[in-house]
Amino acid sequence: MLIVGNGNLVTLGEDPRVRRGGAVAIEDGLIVEVGTTRVLRAKHKKAELLDAAGAVIMPGLINIHAHGYGAFARGLAVPGRPPRTFLEILRDLWWKLDRALTLEDIYVSAALGFVDGVKNGTTSIFDHHASPNAIAGSLDEEARAAGKVGVRACLCYEVSDRDGAERAAEGIEENVRFIRSLARPGRKGMLAGCMGLHASLTLSDATLQRAVEEAGKLGVGCHIHVAEGPEDGTDSAARHGKSVVRRLFDLGVLGPRSIAAHCVHVGPEDIDLLASTRTIVAHNAQSNMGNAVGVAPALEMVQKGVRVGLGTDGFTADMFEAAASTNIVHRLATRDPSVGWEEGRRMLLWTNARVAEEFFGVRLGALAPGHAADLIVVDYDPYTPLDAGNFWGHLLFGMRGGQVRHAIIDGRVVMRDRRIIGLDEARLRARARTLSKKVWERLARL
Ligand SMILES: [Zn+2]
Repeated sequence: MLIVGNGNLVTLGEDPRVRRGGAVAIEDGLIVEVGTTRVLRAKHKKAELLDAAGAVIMPGLINIHAHGYGAFARGLAVPGRPPRTFLEILRDLWWKLDRALTLEDIYVSAALGFVDGVKNGTTSIFDHHASPNAIAGSLDEEARAAGKVGVRACLCYEVSDRDGAERAAEGIEENVRFIRSLARPGRKGMLAGCMGLHASLTLSDATLQRAVEEAGKLGVGCHIHVAEGPEDGTDSAARHGKSVVRRLFDLGVLGPRSIAAHCVHVGPEDIDLLASTRTIVAHNAQSNMGNAVGVAPALEMVQKGVRVGLGTDGFTADMFEAAASTNIVHRLATRDPSVGWEEGRRMLLWTNARVAEEFFGVRLGALAPGHAADLIVVDYDPYTPLDAGNFWGHLLFGMRGGQVRHAIIDGRVVMRDRRIIGLDEARLRARARTLSKKVWERLARL
């Protein structure tokens, strides 16, 4: 048994409480008891204690949209003039980077992304992967990286017609093969999969139909970029005579197990469709700012009953930062400082947890008996009163990923004093420096 104690325990969940000197007792991957450190230690004398003095003990954060394959983009100078539109960003950077990746690059990139996530307090990550010249086995490499780091991961390959029909078919096959492999013993709870799709503008009706059919047979949903830049909508209107969301609805892509990332350029009818199908929307405020695509109507979507959660889209690995940006971007966009507080809290701390519970099949997002032991210890000793009612304000303004001291996932200490256990980070980074140089060289020739 492991006890994480001596901290400010923030339970979150349905009955949120803050307990000073609180502790959590963990056994077999589950939280078995929550109470005061004194009482739990007296009761379980042989249990190991992980100290959280001067820190907050809280559920691990969840990221519902990320791209591990983008790791080697850091510091890369994009050849040619700077991209002026979102489509140019895709063509000049991401669609070149993904073509340059080998299976080893994929493993190392994914491992770096997962390490970065855990170091910033994220214990479950929904990844969306592309590597058109190394499709078969790519999700196994990512799964191996997730296992090595010890993070919960939902993986998918990004099916697209942009590299030809053959690659699209290979992408579907990779998703199907990987999702089937999840039935193997020992994989339940830590890994999940779904049908990855790029975006409406690079997908034909035939490919979408095949992907949806295969996903249906496997009982999974899709994970797709939706109306991220204005180009997606323009393309759908011109080629199909309808909005992106309507097209995806008509082809059966939407639904309670599907994640629609972004949804920046959506209208009232699209929002109604997302709500009525219970589709999950991943809001990625910082990425949208970086790509200058606009501000997603995320608050309106929440108010209209859409299940909106938070992702990073690979822009950052820090969900604290993602939440803080979400809190302010809608104020700026509406010039109203009163908006977004509750919606942002709901996205990060409630909806992300419900989504992860549905995908991984374990209870998440709260420190309560019977929940999976996914928790983080954050160096944060508040100098103003902290209670369940004002915790969101402390999180937004006082806490960031760099303060995360320990991370426990599935009951295992994955990071202790900011060191990932069982993984040589320096060696991983050294290998990445060698590989990324070669990727940059290949990319420059594309
Ligand atoms: Zn994305």
